[in-house]
Amino acid sequence: MIIAANFKMNLTPRKIHEYLHVLEQKQEYSSYAHINIILFPNMASLMSDEVLRGCALSSLTLGAQNAYPAFNGAFTGEIGAEILEELNISTLMIGHSERREIFNETQEFCQKKFDFYKKLNFKILYCIGEPLHIRKNGQHELKNYLNMQLCNIDVSYNNLIIAYEPIWAIGSGISAEAHVIEETHQLIKEILQNNNASNIPLLYGGSVKTDNVREILMLDGVDGVLVGSASLSPYEFSAILQVAVELQKI
Ligand code: PEP
Repeated sequence: MIIAANFKMNLTPRKIHEYLHVLEQKQEYSSYAHINIILFPNMASLMSDEVLRGCALSSLTLGAQNAYPAFNGAFTGEIGAEILEELNISTLMIGHSERREIFNETQEFCQKKFDFYKKLNFKILYCIGEPLHIRKNGQHELKNYLNMQLCNIDVSYNNLIIAYEPIWAIGSGISAEAHVIEETHQLIKEILQNNNASNIPLLYGGSVKTDNVREILMLDGVDGVLVGSASLSPYEFSAILQVAVELQKI
């Protein structure tokens, strides 16, 4: 099971250091042994020795929310592979709807990033998800849209995780209904199978929190969750991890 946290542009390195302390106190890290926990903090925190040490001690994987598809070079404001390699970061999120919408990242650019970091064998958390008007137009349009977001992405890549995040559920406080998650995950798994990819972990993201995570994690076709707002509190995130630990025992 994979539990990922997207801190977005929140929490300073000092706050994340304190956050890791709280997580440590809340739970014996050994109980997380069968859960793959990935934290996506801001870039500055990826460079903090205290954060790196805290995560290494507790076997949490750190990933980058974004990176430019180049080793280094004249790309002002960006982070590239050389920097990530020096920081020992080999997990990268690509295709988050905020990057696609706010920073105008096209499918071609997502594909370029994917191809570049795949060659470096990065673990890639690749996000897909539709806006509300597409969902309202029915199943056919939904399938086309999700297909398009996977277009030219090598879904047989063995270091790939996909996160399904309906845009209308992100940050809204209301997750997609259970049957919607299950049906859409089924649809995505069919798309993956048609592209000779099975066993790609498929996460759900969009207003996951303590009071809905159990139901979501128990759904067919859900291999984990990507948590935004609710991951910002170490108390809430550790409660989410506790549910994952309990479900692993079933
Ligand atoms: C996200 O943006 O990746 C996300 C899952 O956010 P939230 O949990 O706040 O909906």
